[in-house]
Amino acid sequence: MLYECAIIGGGPAGLSAALVLGRARRKTVVFDDDHARNRVTREAHGFLTRDGTKPSELRRLARKEIAEYPSVEFQNEKIVSIERLDRAHYELKTASGKVFRSVKILLANGLRDEQPNIPGIEHFYGTSLFSCPYCDGWELRDRPLAVIADKNVFKLAAEVYTWSRDVIVFTNGEGQLTAEERKKLNAKEIRIVDDIIARLEGENGQLQSIRLEDGTLIDRTGGFVSPLWSHPNHFADALGCERNQYGGILTDEYGRTTVWNVYAAGDVSHIVPSQLIIAAGTGSAAAIGMNGDLTNEFFDTI
Ligand SMILES: Cc1cc2nc3c(=O)[nH]c(=O)nc-3n(C[C@H](O)[C@H](O)[C@H](O)COP(=O)(O)OP(=O)(O)OC[C@H]3O[C@@H](n4cnc5c(N)ncnc54)[C@H](O)[C@@H]3O)c2cc1C
Repeated sequence: MLYECAIIGGGPAGLSAALVLGRARRKTVVFDDDHARNRVTREAHGFLTRDGTKPSELRRLARKEIAEYPSVEFQNEKIVSIERLDRAHYELKTASGKVFRSVKILLANGLRDEQPNIPGIEHFYGTSLFSCPYCDGWELRDRPLAVIADKNVFKLAAEVYTWSRDVIVFTNGEGQLTAEERKKLNAKEIRIVDDIIARLEGENGQLQSIRLEDGTLIDRTGGFVSPLWSHPNHFADALGCERNQYGGILTDEYGRTTVWNVYAAGDVSHIVPSQLIIAAGTGSAAAIGMNGDLTNEFFDTI
């Protein structure tokens, strides 16, 4: 079967695109292997009308809405390769060995976060330690907070200060703050701890304290870390898509990449700021780009 649109990723970007393409009656297939970036969190925040909804519930609701449009099909499969056959055909292979063909491809496969290498961090990330103050700052407001980062630590600490005046910055021995930044943080009474963190302590995902290598225990009941981003797969590079200044896939306002018939939306292209509603918005824009291009190509063919 030849699809008009194949969407890799069933997060807010891919699902939003699927909704628009379904309403435009385009033969569309959505692939998803259930590894959403925010799956560790209990609640997703800031998505208008769905503030505080569980990430999996948000996806369930989206899939339910899309199910009303019969031209969209879901495949709970991981795509392992995308190959260009000719100008208007791509072949996609799944991990289970299935093969699909599509005219257009939407890369909406998100980003992967890699946490700083601190013992115990995985027990707290998504419950009392987060990466984005806009997503979870409100829930941690006025608490004694830690900012643990090995890059962009000043920016993150300054942002977190919006939600709590009791902030301690842990550079974990990296010392990447400039003298000027240290001065600015000190002026706001933000303490800076440069010692190496031995481990994070607490129960049931709730951070209680941070133990340093010399045994010192510092009480903190929540905080933010600055993860490193990586792309979960390398389709964009394999297809030859150019990257933007942040390392995301370069697109125009309709999600078109620099490669013919390949589009991108969500975190995979718009790395900053990354928000559910922005991912959904760029998915919608890319779907309009895909449908518009299919329409123009149809009328150009005499
Ligand atoms: C801990 C945490 C908490 C967050 N909290 C919030 C919040 O409260 N509010 C907010 O607005 N934003 C939040 N974010 C950011 C938000 O999660 C992202 O901006 C959003 O998920 C991006 O949507 P997306 O569709 O681009 O990618 P994703 O939601 O990551 O979806 C991508 C999908 O593609 C699939 N996929 C990847 N590769 C393949 C493949 N090869 N084959 C098939 N499927 C594939 C994945 O399984 C995944 O389901 C949070 C992020 C993190 C890390």
